[in-house]
Amino acid sequence: MTARRALVALALTCVAPLAVADTTLAIADTTLIQSLQATPTPARLREWHDLLASEPHIAGTDGDARQIRRLEFAFKQMGLLVETHDFYALLARPISARVEIVEEVNSNHPTEPAQSPRRGILPIIEKNLAEDPASAHPDLTWGWNAYSGSGDLTAEVVYANYATREDFARLKELNVDVTGKIVIARYGGNFRGYKAKFAQEAGAIGLLMYIDPADSGFTKGDVYPSGTWANDTCIQRGSVLALGYPGDPLTPGIEATKDAVRLEESAVALPKIVVQPIGYGAAGKILSLMTGTEVPDVAWRGGLALPYRLEGGAALKVRLTVEQKREIRRSANVIARLKGSANDGSLVIVGCHHDAWGFGAADPLAGTIVLMETARAFAESAAKGILPKCDVLFCAWGAEEFGIIGSTEWVEGHEDELKGATAYVNLDMASMGPNLGIGASPSLQGMVAAACAIDASKIGSIGGGSDHVGFLFHCGVPSVTIAAGGAPGTSYHSNYDTTAWYRKTVGEDYASAMLVTRATLAVLARCCESDDSPISAAATVAAVRKECASLQAASAKHPSPLNDARALAAGQVEGCFAALERAAAEFDAKAGTAQGRAIDRALLDPAGIGGRPWFRSLALASDRDSGYRATALPGLTDATDAAAIEQGQQALCASADRLALILKQ
Ligand SMILES: [Zn+2]
Repeated sequence: MTARRALVALALTCVAPLAVADTTLAIADTTLIQSLQATPTPARLREWHDLLASEPHIAGTDGDARQIRRLEFAFKQMGLLVETHDFYALLARPISARVEIVEEVNSNHPTEPAQSPRRGILPIIEKNLAEDPASAHPDLTWGWNAYSGSGDLTAEVVYANYATREDFARLKELNVDVTGKIVIARYGGNFRGYKAKFAQEAGAIGLLMYIDPADSGFTKGDVYPSGTWANDTCIQRGSVLALGYPGDPLTPGIEATKDAVRLEESAVALPKIVVQPIGYGAAGKILSLMTGTEVPDVAWRGGLALPYRLEGGAALKVRLTVEQKREIRRSANVIARLKGSANDGSLVIVGCHHDAWGFGAADPLAGTIVLMETARAFAESAAKGILPKCDVLFCAWGAEEFGIIGSTEWVEGHEDELKGATAYVNLDMASMGPNLGIGASPSLQGMVAAACAIDASKIGSIGGGSDHVGFLFHCGVPSVTIAAGGAPGTSYHSNYDTTAWYRKTVGEDYASAMLVTRATLAVLARCCESDDSPISAAATVAAVRKECASLQAASAKHPSPLNDARALAAGQVEGCFAALERAAAEFDAKAGTAQGRAIDRALLDPAGIGGRPWFRSLALASDRDSGYRATALPGLTDATDAAAIEQGQQALCASADRLALILKQ
């Protein structure tokens, strides 16, 4: 049987999620995939969900420690080798918080007494729901944004739309002074850490963030519990760290072991601004009392039935009190290993975080349950004597929510072992609906498309924002993100992220989780089993050339001295990589996986990309302003002066030389 026929067999099992594997294929290289695909069941996925979503488990808490033990036990029960990888990171925990409207003399009611009925404390926690008793669990907390500054301040308010860089530039254009004010902004558009960063840079002392109904509430559909969208008390929690690196804030680039040499807290740009998330009920109370000019841009209007105004005016004061404690706390990654038959240091890694802001039924467990069922499929096959060639690592990462901490610390301590890694597959929130969506490094896109029988053009590029960033941006391990989405609704980072919400929204049948489990198994098996290398050098070269071409086109559209320099540099890089095209195609035709593993690593610059030394991939980095998107060729794209552009160009052409050496082997 040819490799091509084997691919077709994988494809069948992947696209027909509930179909029985094709039993007519008894060829050696399909035995593993057949065996793997026979294992997963919706009932077991549901059981994993019940087990792992049984209580709130925020990193650094007792619930987190119990979750770690549950995972250890489950992997051991499967017969896998389990290592609990402890790390000691600077985490934050909430001590107290309060949001209060303290003064309100609405100009429409100038005679209103000082003791207005609209003065008062606003709710900062979700209401308990009889329909979802989990929402009353005593370990659930009020809404908070980890690493907020602590303080007690009273100030006027300014509305800043999504608080993106552009939104603050617009406020400046409109002569709205943010200095000394509390900014109120809606979630969406960028990572919340950048909202806090931009607000602080604009001079604000406080930031209130809320989910606007236009983005995720009643404008979208019925709200929880009658529907699945955010109700007026639903609050998005989350970290507001926005450093130039992920992982433990005090140990950039090195593993956060118990006795690691740490930075002083004062040497790290932790947020100073006081940040508090609220629901749109509370936000609406503040917004309705604002008296300034209405927002001139229609795009700034949300879904609340009130005029969105830029400023609150002097008569409206909000008091914001937040106390948080930042301290070094232990959490852990749980790493389960299945030894492959080759025993040559080759491995594939699949992971999803285990920590959450509450129960985490969707984030992360919609992915963690897929991780567990994937591990069980490999373990069952191994018990029958059907082993993959390479080792497979199943990783449940800790403290992702605080800043991608657990996976980053593990990666920083395992760089040598990672030289044997063919791929990292990430599964964060992976089963959220019927529509399979896959992102992958260019070098793996062809393999993933073949494994899952989808058109290669349907494979997206890969961004930031989850546990693949250490593998991809720091160590050059080509990565894949697999997730099925499309179920309407949100409980993101709220106390409503429960199995009740998940089953109402995504379904009781676990068809989405089955689909993603099958896709994950197909991709992992293809990485480990095929005679052809899953890594394409030609695709890596082509991707760099394509990015150069689009950078040239974009710069030509808006000519300026800087863009002209950028276009020139992109043209030179294009030339450096054009010379590699034939060699890459020849390499792909004859070289195997072991040689191919060096391809993406050749695009690492040990010195890092301009101003962000932790990010070493010259091909791709997290977007500076959004955190979730990715920036291609960051050395050229991010550079803001001619010298930096030239440096970026030289680094890229040097990486082309490194690649040429590998291709000539
Ligand atoms: Zn997550």
